[in-house]
Amino acid sequence: MKKIDEILTENINSIAIVGHVRPDGDCVGSCMGLYNYLKDNYTLDVDVYLDDFAHSLSFMRYSDEINKNTDPSKQYDLVIAVDCSDRNRLGKGNEFFETAKKTACIDHHISNAGYSEVNHIRPNACASGEVLYELFDADKISKETAECLYTAIIHDSGVFQYSSVTQRTMEIAGTLMGKGIDFSNIVAKTFYEKSYHRNQILGRALLESIRLMNGKCIFSVISASNMEFYRVKPKDLDGIVENLRNTEGVEVAIFLYETGAQEYKVSLRSKDIVDVSKVAAYYGGGGHVKAAGCTMHGSVYDVINNLTSHIEQQMLAVGEE
Ligand code: AMP
Ligand code: MN
Ligand code: MN
Repeated sequence: MKKIDEILTENINSIAIVGHVRPDGDCVGSCMGLYNYLKDNYTLDVDVYLDDFAHSLSFMRYSDEINKNTDPSKQYDLVIAVDCSDRNRLGKGNEFFETAKKTACIDHHISNAGYSEVNHIRPNACASGEVLYELFDADKISKETAECLYTAIIHDSGVFQYSSVTQRTMEIAGTLMGKGIDFSNIVAKTFYEKSYHRNQILGRALLESIRLMNGKCIFSVISASNMEFYRVKPKDLDGIVENLRNTEGVEVAIFLYETGAQEYKVSLRSKDIVDVSKVAAYYGGGGHVKAAGCTMHGSVYDVINNLTSHIEQQMLAVGEE
């Protein structure tokens, strides 16, 4: 794989970093990790664009510089999309992707077909933070950059829990720890600590969850009025689907939240057998083998029926149920 210097070819002076809609810990950590690394080691005009994200992630250095450019006509020499599986999911700053002189993409989604001129996509990496680390010169990673990359990695790996974690992931995490970061605090404050309201909505989603397919599938749905009642935003619903998957006997967990009239954001997680990225891709979404998402229309009943028919087909194909 090429190093970051090979992406930063001649005549590149201005760079925009853009993440995906509803940025998660990997997206924010990776975008800010790249931003910090470029600020530390280069004299370039760099901007970073991100949609609204969890307050706990704003400890990262230069968070106050996010979205600092307010000139919509600014044309960048290079726009780098980070952790974004397809062009339509680019968040704030996506308009600069259209006008950029050069585009690049750094990602780890299996569903990423490579929508930029330069594509660095490693589906076997557990986080975009891991892909970025491999593009950087380890000696030039500051403590602040290490904090961002470590945050990215723990968020997409469930704190080193998922099967996407490799020996290399742990080596990288070890090197980042060696930079003097307060890793224990990062895990506690950004991954586990939740506001009272977030915990309440998690409890509600678990309480009202329903098992299907002899307990192999579980789903829960949060309506727009529920979200209003508990005063939570979509970013506060992160982690609910992983909790549902933790249920004994479950192979696939489905979590829906209402985004409009008869419109739901769907999150899918699997344990061992089902490739949920295929299910999500069928409905216009994407993601990873064991974690994917899409948006679907219709009643909750329709959405669940459609999803479970695909899940059932995959299970039948491998002789499960
Ligand atoms: P989520 O369930 O939203 O946490 O997403 C799980 C994974 O699927 C993430 O890696 C997302 O980037 C990806 N994903 C979620 N929604 C979509 C979508 N509509 N299109 C493509 N990828 C998605
Ligand atoms: Mn992400
Ligand atoms: Mn990611």
